[in-house]
Amino acid sequence: MWRYAAWMPLLPDEAPVTLGEGATPLLRADALARAIGVRTVWIKEEGLNPTGSFKARGMSAAVTRARALNVPGMVVPTAGNAGAALAAYGAAAGIPVRVYAPTETPPAILTTIRVFGAELITVSGHIGDAGRAAREFAAQQRWFDVSTLREPYRIEGKTTMGLEIAEQLGWRLPGAIIYPTGGGTGLIGMWKAFHELLAAGWIDSETTLPRMISAQAAGCAPIVRAFHAGEERATPWSDPKTHASGLRVPAALGDRLILRALRESHGDAEAAEEDEIRAGAVDITRHTGVDASPEGGCALAVCRRLVASGRLSRDAEIVLFNTGAGASYRT
Ligand SMILES: *Cc1c(COP(=O)(O)O)cnc(C)c1O
Repeated sequence: MWRYAAWMPLLPDEAPVTLGEGATPLLRADALARAIGVRTVWIKEEGLNPTGSFKARGMSAAVTRARALNVPGMVVPTAGNAGAALAAYGAAAGIPVRVYAPTETPPAILTTIRVFGAELITVSGHIGDAGRAAREFAAQQRWFDVSTLREPYRIEGKTTMGLEIAEQLGWRLPGAIIYPTGGGTGLIGMWKAFHELLAAGWIDSETTLPRMISAQAAGCAPIVRAFHAGEERATPWSDPKTHASGLRVPAALGDRLILRALRESHGDAEAAEEDEIRAGAVDITRHTGVDASPEGGCALAVCRRLVASGRLSRDAEIVLFNTGAGASYRT
């Protein structure tokens, strides 16, 4: 990821806190494209990142700044993968970490958090409940709160996904990007990156930017609901339920930014049921060899829905995000 250091918050001569995150493959998935009846599908395979998810990108950027600022410790509420990533980057930087995670977080992810030496506090409820506990602790201890969009650096790490897609396609952009959305940092970050690439002249000024499409679970779909209701902000989802734990985010702090990116890009938003999400992960895995997470499965399930209803052209060049490794969800 740090080959894009010039785009990143990094001081001259500063070495980043890195574990080899980013530079993930963009895999052409022809058999999968045939199976769902579209021309071109690419999978951005983020499951290969350290600790098995794209959270590594954001945490590498955030922990780099935290170390430069000599923070005494770092704390994060998480649906799982952000905690695992922060635990690993905290270990790399030698900074203590405390993680607040829902009790229902996939067990393998909770184990990863502990294995990297973070202090794990499990919370009954969802990531919003974990967030309240984490903020209280951060304020008392004066530790750095690494919650989604409460600090400015994780999103800068996520912009590199947009830079990579452009570079991997030869400085062109795809027609649509389907992004499994929780807090939405990747979606907001890529949208920012595409504008930076345009401004820098690295992509042709005539380029049509991709349609940004949010995929959520039917049991927790605040962005989908707000998008179709024409609202500027999303109302918090009550009783969020989905096995795609990264999508169990009832209220995103960046809701306005997500909705704005969806609308500016002439994008869309759709939710999939739990069985469609499961089937989506199986489809990706068996047609491509990529170990899809439930969140990746959700992206595919939403792709199928949009194609079936004519909201996404069969001729579009589509990038699906597999945001995490399926292995993290198996017991
Ligand atoms: C965190 C996470 C998401 C949601 O990402 P946001 O950028 O917060 O929307 C999706 N999939 C996985 C595997 C995650 O860990």
